[in-house]
Amino acid sequence: MEKREKVFEITCPKCGHKFEQSLPTAIFSSTVEKDEILSGKFGNITCPSCANEFILNYRFAYTDEANLFMVVNDPAFVDKKARLAFSTGLGLIGAARKDELIKHTLRLTYNYKALREKIAIFEAGLDDRVIELMKYFLINSEDFSYKSDQVKDFIFTDKKEFYLETVLNVGLKLDFSDLLYETILSNYGEAIKKDRSYLVDRAWAENFLKAN
Ligand SMILES: [Zn+2]
Repeated sequence: MEKREKVFEITCPKCGHKFEQSLPTAIFSSTVEKDEILSGKFGNITCPSCANEFILNYRFAYTDEANLFMVVNDPAFVDKKARLAFSTGLGLIGAARKDELIKHTLRLTYNYKALREKIAIFEAGLDDRVIELMKYFLINSEDFSYKSDQVKDFIFTDKKEFYLETVLNVGLKLDFSDLLYETILSNYGEAIKKDRSYLVDRAWAENFLKAN
């Protein structure tokens, strides 16, 4: 499988030196790049001027042909307009490629943490929308120790549990409840099926629950 390298213009965050580097834009689940994504080493760049090492968040597609999902990671997706441009741009994809893509669950992320979570969810055979709703209900339940604005990160991990980090950098693990997962699936399954969102995160869950 070809990696489809593309030349990126990179600016060193330390010294401001600008340089060009070729990076892969098509990553597959069977490659060494996947291990790098999981271990946090992916996108590691060394500045040719000052030797500073840093992680570059850039645009590429991650495809898993076994679990049939594709995640497009792009730091520009933080911006709503970029997401919209992307989804309308999908209309321009050739018919053959579209037929091929329709089998895949397509998601957008704008950082590697979110990409790692999507990989963990889809490899576990779970639906990321149910997971986001689960997080919402857990955070907003009465016996939850933190308020939602105190939660910085709340991530499903490859150990099939949740990892939570507060704004004060307190980290804790939360068990995954199959019962809660199944309950959400039976209550919202129909509405979830109709949902066509590519960016599924905490804001998605809030909007979804307002509409359903
Ligand atoms: Zn530098």
